[in-house]
Amino acid sequence: MYPPWLVLHVPHDSLVVPDSVRSQFLLDDSELKVELDRMTDHHTLALFADQTSEAQVVRAPVSRLVVDVERFARDEDEPMAARGMGAVYSLTCHLLPLRRPLVAEERGKLMQDYYHPHHAHLERAVDRTLERHGRCLVLDCHSFPSKALPYELADPASTRPEICIGSDDFHTSLLLAGAFASAFERAGSIVKLNDPFRGALVPNSRFRSDKRVAAVMVEVNRQLYMYEPTGERLPDFNRVVQKIRRCCGSAIAACASLQT
Ligand SMILES: [Zn+2]
Repeated sequence: MYPPWLVLHVPHDSLVVPDSVRSQFLLDDSELKVELDRMTDHHTLALFADQTSEAQVVRAPVSRLVVDVERFARDEDEPMAARGMGAVYSLTCHLLPLRRPLVAEERGKLMQDYYHPHHAHLERAVDRTLERHGRCLVLDCHSFPSKALPYELADPASTRPEICIGSDDFHTSLLLAGAFASAFERAGSIVKLNDPFRGALVPNSRFRSDKRVAAVMVEVNRQLYMYEPTGERLPDFNRVVQKIRRCCGSAIAACASLQT
């Protein structure tokens, strides 16, 4: 059981592209499916939130290709906007055209329909947790492909870990990041900190201002649990689920006991 002051944030699990948004994309159906296969953090809801109370889970209901809720709302604040991957993507993971140019009203409607409601949901979940428990840990739940995609601009010589722990300078203490890293290492995983992806998301209203909100990101290498070309779960998927639950649970328990 996770403690009641945990909120699981699952931003990239959905494959849903609403019909009203489909026409913005310049890809045919098979190309769009390939892009979804590459960019979706498949099965992360099942990996992290299995048997967790719905009140503790905030999952984006649409694909990150519709809007990416993990990005800052304004392109001026979002470094990935320079690669066509701000909150509203214009480029594919191969840095090729993904979407036709949108007018401001179209972008505004996407944000209003899909981005802001998700963040309002996260804000409510964190507010409620703080009211009840005086603290909140946001566990940002992701996965990543075993081989870097072109948009990452990754060093081809660098090797990918099995588990990446992402931290934020303000919201992730060394204790918290270390507890997650060592829990997975003790379970035999190869772990890196902030490599290949960095950061951990908290609600905008708390960002770098409220120390009661802690955050850590856990990214799982997809080859551990799925057949990457199709997204199909590997036969031992449930064993991976149990391992993630055990490692996250023991890391959280270690932090909780050291802080009291
Ligand atoms: Zn992700």
